[in-house]
Parts: sequence; C-alpha cells; structure tokens
Amino acid sequence: MLKILRWLALPIVALGALPVPAQVKKPKVVATFLPMYLFTRGVVGKEGQLEVLVPPGSSAHEYQATPANAQSVAKADVVVMNGLDFEEFMEGLIKNAGNKKAKLVDASKGIKPLGDKKAEKHSHSGGNPHVWLDPVLAMQQVTNIRDGLVSADPTNAQAYKTNAASFIKQLQQLDGEFKTRLAPVKGCKFIAFHDAFPYLAKRYGLQQEAVVELPEDALTPKDIQRVKTAAQKFKVKGMLSEPGVDDKRLQQIAQELKLPVKTLDPLESGKLEPDYYFQVMRQNLATLESVCK
Ligand SMILES: [Zn+2]
Repeated sequence: MLKILRWLALPIVALGALPVPAQVKKPKVVATFLPMYLFTRGVVGKEGQLEVLVPPGSSAHEYQATPANAQSVAKADVVVMNGLDFEEFMEGLIKNAGNKKAKLVDASKGIKPLGDKKAEKHSHSGGNPHVWLDPVLAMQQVTNIRDGLVSADPTNAQAYKTNAASFIKQLQQLDGEFKTRLAPVKGCKFIAFHDAFPYLAKRYGLQQEAVVELPEDALTPKDIQRVKTAAQKFKVKGMLSEPGVDDKRLQQIAQELKLPVKTLDPLESGKLEPDYYFQVMRQNLATLESVCK
C-alpha cells in the first residue's frame, strides 16, 4: 500500500517542481446590450472576461452612456456591437474612450437589413436593427463574434470555435422548433408593440402588420385608431405587449376589443444568464402560437 502511495505521490511532486506556466491571458470583452452579451458569452465561455454596457432593466433604445461605460470601453480589448445603427450611444463613447487598440466587432456584418421606418425618418442606414430575434440571423451574429474574437485573440481560437459551434447547434434546434410549430399558422398577422419582429416574421412566414408605438414617440388618438382598425381587420386573437413598458393604452385598446394581452419579448433587456436567449425565445414561440392558432 505504502509503495502505491509513494508511486502516486511522485508525479505530483514532479509537477510541483515544474515552473508554473504563465496564465493564458484572456482578453477583456465588452458587449453593448443583452443579446450581444448573451451571444458573446456563448463564444467566450463561462471564464471569459465579459461586461455589458446597458445594464439589466435599462432600455437599449435611447440609452445614455455613463462614465463607467466609458471606463469599460477604454480598457477593452474587444467591443461587440449589434451594429445597423442600433447603439447610437456608442459613437461618442468610442471617441471619448480614446481606445485605439480595441477591436470593434460588428455582429451584423454581411446581414442584409430590412427597412425600418423609424431609421429612415432619422436618416440612418434605413435598416431595422432587430436581427437577433431571428434564430438564423443570430447564427450569423455568433459567427461574426467568433471570427472577431479569433482574430483579436488567436491564442484561444480553438475554445472560441468549439463554444460557437455548440451555441450555433442550440440555435439550429431553436430554428427547427419555430419552423415546425409555426408552419400550421403560416400567414398569421400580428400586431407588435414596437417594430422589433420583421426578421422573425419573415423567417417563419408570419406578418407583423402594425406597430403600437415607437419607444420615443407619443401616441396620438389617430395611432390608437390605427391599431384598433388593424386589430379588427386582421382579426388578431391577442394584443402583444412587452415586458417593462408602459402599455396603459394597449391595455385600454385590448379591453375595448375584448382581446387578451400577451407578451412578446424583444430581448433588449433582461437577465445575463447563459440560457436566457433560449428561454425567452421559446416563450415568444408559445406566445406567437397562441395568438395565431
Ligand atoms: Zn427595439
């Protein structure tokens, strides 16, 4: 017995005598808001150094950057953005941070945007930025994030590739569920709270027919009439609200039309948990099924 113990102890002693290898340095990665954080977390893994700029509970639309955000960006090695002009707060932030070495990753690189009335009005790119709500485009975003990290930090390339592949596999599974469960309700028309779901609708053959309100716009009686008319015309089976928004007028419309109010989450704010994207998307799928059946 003693002999075996001594034999077992040997390699440990030998290992202890070796010089300790320098820890592989992990880059500091900053993601702008929730879905960029969740996708990047999927690629960097649990141990990666990752921060989010828009904190849980804050809306990513109309977000005002804080001094703490500027510090995070100043120290970052990699900054992951959705792009398509969604993160308006980033322009000043990057300028002020004066960080020339950070690699900027545009997660929407190569994605052909759908039109966005709000963006056109503000003379931006004219592209709707909500691509993360389509699981297939989410795969493209994860791929772009992976490629950005591999080029910024080739030492950990293999880990990024493995992690991204497993995240994409989960997205493929999710896409399959959307396809199967929404196939019987193809052509279903729904009214969204804000213009967040055109990519999702297009992917699965649904139609986002009207939008209750744009975040920064005040709703007029004309808008309310427009929503009511659309709800009746398209015989929608429920009004779709969002978590954490002031939806008094929507509740009022729903009551007048005797329709239930359900929640469709654009994933612009929420929990920084690894599985959160999938949980919420499956809830969204169940909601769409229930208002389309
Ligand atoms: Zn939005």
